[in-house]
Amino acid sequence: MKAIVNRILPFSSVDGPGNRTSIFFQGCNFNCLYCHNPETINICNHCGICVMECKFSALWMNSGEVIWDKVLCQNCDVCLGSCPHNSTPKALEMTVEQVLLEIRKTRKFISGITVSGGECTLQSEFLLELFKEVKKMGLTTFVDTNGSIPLYQNEALLKVTDKVMLDVKAYNEEEHKMLTGMGNQVVLKNLKELAKKDKLYEIRTVIVPEVLNNYLTVDRVSKWISEVNPALRYKLIKYRTIGVRIDMLNSYTPSEEIIKELITLANRNGCDNVICI
Ligand code: SF4
Ligand code: SF4
Repeated sequence: MKAIVNRILPFSSVDGPGNRTSIFFQGCNFNCLYCHNPETINICNHCGICVMECKFSALWMNSGEVIWDKVLCQNCDVCLGSCPHNSTPKALEMTVEQVLLEIRKTRKFISGITVSGGECTLQSEFLLELFKEVKKMGLTTFVDTNGSIPLYQNEALLKVTDKVMLDVKAYNEEEHKMLTGMGNQVVLKNLKELAKKDKLYEIRTVIVPEVLNNYLTVDRVSKWISEVNPALRYKLIKYRTIGVRIDMLNSYTPSEEIIKELITLANRNGCDNVICI
């Protein structure tokens, strides 16, 4: 079994508790206006446009396929900027064993792994096989998801998943469609059902005041959290312009005042554990 992996970060302290190895899978079914990793959205179609841009001869074409040389690559990311398809020539097809090989290198220094993306749950069968092996190593398994795939129905995967970090990008369905290209019914169902199964680690909402009705989303999500588990962490993420797509460049990082208002709103609704990054 193989999956397309965008990159593996050997050590991360921001993708769940403790020190973790983070695996970013290629491919996403959302097309968020504020996407910070647009190069993870699509699978490379081998058009070859980025090959001309590499100044270090780390890319070339072979029988209609773009080949990436990891050794020659200087990680300047010029190829990512030149790709018109929101993709990367650096994603690799990997087997479960190849990913495990990378995890074994960091095994002694980490408490677990986190799978992210793109949208990692699009490759759920691979995750299942990977997590089964990772659990045997005594590591914890976290899923970072946009919530679009009904993870709550996947009992086999949940059995080997410790916790889920779930995005609720917008509570209003039309706003969610405008932002991501898809509705939010499965996201909200995941929110409710995964909470019942005690699988949620945190819920996240990106704050973009100029574009989104963040007050509505924070209000509804925090009210819901207060009913199911007031200690559940609600993470508000300030929109930042660095690395985003041109569509959102007219938006700005929200002011401290707006963030304070949203935190106060969530606390007032009975949601005790709100953080902002
Ligand atoms: S990131 Fe690597 S492959 Fe891409 S342009 Fe830079 S050197 Fe070339
Ligand atoms: S990464 Fe983008 S530009 Fe490069 S070959 Fe693939 S689709 Fe074309």
